[in-house]
Amino acid sequence: MNANLFDRLERSVDDLTKAAITTPAEETVSYAELIARSGHLANVLTARGVKPGDRVAVQVEKSIPALILYLATVRAGAVYLPLNTAYTLSELEYFIGDAEPSLVVCDPGKREGIEQLAAKVGAAVESLDAKGQGTLIEAAAKAPDSFETVQRAGNDLAAILYTSGTTGRSKGAMLTHDNLVSNALTLKEVWRFTADDVLIHALPIYHTHGLFVASNVTLFSGASMIFLSKFDADDILGLMSRATALMGVPTFYVRLLQHPGLSRDVTSGIRLFVSGSAPLLAETHREWSARTGHAILERYGMTETNMNTSNPYDEDRVPGTVGLPLPGVSVRITDPDTGEELATNEIGMIEVKGPNVFKGYWRMPEKTAADFRPDGYFITGDLGKIDERGYVHILGRGKDLVITGGFNVYPKEIEEEIDALPGVFESAVIGVPHKDFGEGVTAVVVRSKGADIDEKSIFTALTGRLAKFKLPKQIVFIEELPRNTMGKVQKNMLREKFRDLYAEPAGAS
Ligand code: ATP
Ligand code: MG
Repeated sequence: MNANLFDRLERSVDDLTKAAITTPAEETVSYAELIARSGHLANVLTARGVKPGDRVAVQVEKSIPALILYLATVRAGAVYLPLNTAYTLSELEYFIGDAEPSLVVCDPGKREGIEQLAAKVGAAVESLDAKGQGTLIEAAAKAPDSFETVQRAGNDLAAILYTSGTTGRSKGAMLTHDNLVSNALTLKEVWRFTADDVLIHALPIYHTHGLFVASNVTLFSGASMIFLSKFDADDILGLMSRATALMGVPTFYVRLLQHPGLSRDVTSGIRLFVSGSAPLLAETHREWSARTGHAILERYGMTETNMNTSNPYDEDRVPGTVGLPLPGVSVRITDPDTGEELATNEIGMIEVKGPNVFKGYWRMPEKTAADFRPDGYFITGDLGKIDERGYVHILGRGKDLVITGGFNVYPKEIEEEIDALPGVFESAVIGVPHKDFGEGVTAVVVRSKGADIDEKSIFTALTGRLAKFKLPKQIVFIEELPRNTMGKVQKNMLREKFRDLYAEPAGAS
């Protein structure tokens, strides 16, 4: 049987007349139309010389045609390679050079600059936009809709997705048809997705969360999604009566909580609120329960592995944890230095193995080799622990670990203590170069609106609760933590901003 994701998707949908995607503007595309329109596009891609295994790099605004292009690319046996819409031309130069696609698809307005970059790697350029305009759409209108989905093995690449670049330069993660299908089917099962579900989809579709978690689980369930081009609290609240599920990043929930229209009534038809991509504050979890009566389900995933863990659907959703490993996925904690497996509640490196785990980094064989253990576990780079009930706790990134005077300090442990103080909205703990300690533990704090909590009162509250070496050497206040489009705190930027905090004044010896 053809292991192509598209074939397996087609086989898993029972009712082709159902809406697969709608928009608030009442655009509707049924599954039958999705299949036909992806057929048109797959014919065009093939006619343009896109061959199985070729990369199709796509930087277009979120839209129904953009999602159809993902399916068409996979159908044609090519490798879908979406790029963040925020990337500038100079950033694109790197990605296009690294990926060497045979075709680049962009918004019609961006064509000129991209053509020059594409020419350097001999790639053709086509365009497409949300209004259904662009050269690709024009050609598709004349193409036949029947297309025989290209035969692929489960281990062949379906997509290359670049990581978010939170800890350094983005890396291309090679994902196979089996990776994506197994994850979609697992999520369908654990989140009880059925054809009756309607998902509010406000995430970008160049990232694993919006593309492979939200879209794939919906499509493999034969369910519907309402596509919003971006997050908007008014729009989302207005759509809740038509929907059954929302998937978002923590910032979505924080912003919805700031909206006076959020209530039990408005959310009563929703059966599932999911959060991922960044840690959900315990306070957000609590407030959400109080305002709506729903416990947000937090889960943990990454570009390289789709999803690893999820809080349970029926049992306890434990705030501050990312839940249990998904069925078929193994998670273990190891000593970062020796690689030895650690016991319950011991903190170390999170490693993951399972059908969800990617094939390796694109054109980085050495990094790939270094990030896999001989027994097949992928070293995630995240630090955490597994408690006695099997719930996984994330304690931050390995790269964010602060080493002060020879002691390891896990930022999350301190952030949790600070975040729990009245008057604090949130915090980020970072290591800043320090002459005596190597790194000085530094807390960057955002006050709650109108609060005037100061450095001294935070310090006093932490003393006695934390060992002395974990206490911040300095606490600095900031209006807002820098975040990327997925709501991830950019600790690199904070380290840069405060790098001279402990520097000796000029002239001192
Ligand atoms: P890069 O790998 O380029 O530095 P990135 O790791 O941010 O960027 P993504 O693959 O988008 O790129 O993000 C995956 C990471 O997001 C995980 O490794 C983890 O650190 C974090 N993450 C995801 N979900 C959660 C969660 N629920 N709680 C805490 N962290 C999370
Ligand atoms: Mg990463």
